[in-house]
Amino acid sequence: MSDKPNKLITDDGLRLDGRRADEIRPMKIEIGVLSRADGSCYLEWGRNKILVGVFGPREAHPRRLQRADAAVIRYRYNMASFSVEDRARPGPSRRSIEISKVSREAFEPVIMAELYPKTAIDIFVEILQADAGTRTAAINASSIALADAGIPMKGLVTSCAFGKVDGQIVLDLNKEEDNYGEADFPVALTQDGEITLLQMDGHLTPEEIKKGFELVKKGCKEILEIQQTVLRKKFETPVEEPEAEPEAKTVDTESEAAETEPSLEYAPEAAAVEETIEEAEELEEEPSEETTKAGAVTETVPEAEELEEIVKEAEVEVVDGEAIEEAIEAESEEEAIEAETEEEAIEAETEEEAIEAETEEEAEEAETEEEAEEAETEEEAIEAETEEEAIEAEDESKGPWKVVKDPSESGSRGENDE
Ligand code: ADP
Repeated sequence: MSDKPNKLITDDGLRLDGRRADEIRPMKIEIGVLSRADGSCYLEWGRNKILVGVFGPREAHPRRLQRADAAVIRYRYNMASFSVEDRARPGPSRRSIEISKVSREAFEPVIMAELYPKTAIDIFVEILQADAGTRTAAINASSIALADAGIPMKGLVTSCAFGKVDGQIVLDLNKEEDNYGEADFPVALTQDGEITLLQMDGHLTPEEIKKGFELVKKGCKEILEIQQTVLRKKFETPVEEPEAEPEAKTVDTESEAAETEPSLEYAPEAAAVEETIEEAEELEEEPSEETTKAGAVTETVPEAEELEEIVKEAEVEVVDGEAIEEAIEAESEEEAIEAETEEEAIEAETEEEAIEAETEEEAEEAETEEEAEEAETEEEAIEAETEEEAIEAEDESKGPWKVVKDPSESGSRGENDE
């Protein structure tokens, strides 16, 4: 053993490792480090290095240990022989048996053992490197490993010690302070502040204990934050939906659109129209401005919308299924399609000379041998119904054109002749 330093706390209030009285040592935690354990944790706290594996709930053996009403919790603290400066004697010792018992008891109030009768929950603690405070460090690591194993708990357990060094109350003793200090007081707390471990080695006054408890609460709060951060990092990562949100929104939007604006998947006639328009564009030696625009739109807008744009900008006056095709073909050949109704119903009102068919007085109707298409909503919904269905579009904002279905079908009074 090295000689006792003259001072464990310098005149400016710093400890040998540079910490102030109320500071804990740096802590590093890794979770899920053992593939064969149900939960595991590797923790470094100062120079302490600790590995914990949790197994269970699993059938308890031997059976005589089983409890009919709850799981049996077993905690085994083991110090590796190489973990200390002087080789530690392998195997259980009075000290390790004591630490195992008090540590198990530190978890019993939080582990919901009643959910798993006749089973065992095993916590194996291996101290790989010891530098004072190994029981508190092991409890912190076990808490993480239990959570990693998915053991239901009412909350995490955090543990930290305070002690008396050079007459001062300090938090989280290191090896020198533990060896040459006047007292060591390990504590474990639940998230609710319930004390589940309390031991004392040395002499302390009630005031010193009170002061020490204040430090321990502060230390445990910091440790709890570290534990929660580590657990969140592991368990919240797969649930990071925000990145997926835009995708989800897209899906929602698409499904909404599908509700109001039947997509081409559900409107084969509309698909035929689109194809026909594209063909018409190709056929035109000098595509019209409108048609060119329609082509551009085709690449960017959703199908239903696309269809409307194409139809609108291609100046289809009265269309239905194949009538669209014919109309566009006729246009490309400079043959206008003319639609007539009893009260005459085609109006070209937009710059693109869209055709609007609005009411009984202003309906555009297209008739084909087989099909009609109808787009009906202000949101430019396109509805394809049957071979005899019509497409009717009434979007005043985007183009006052409308395609109505067969008058014999819809009751529209408009008629359209090619
Ligand atoms: P804790 O590690 O929880 O503080 P103790 O107060 O009993 O438990 O031990 C303090 C430190 O003494 C240990 O962290 C370890 O560094 C050292 N130590 C414990 N047992 C032995 C041992 N058998 N041989 C050498 N060093 C030991």
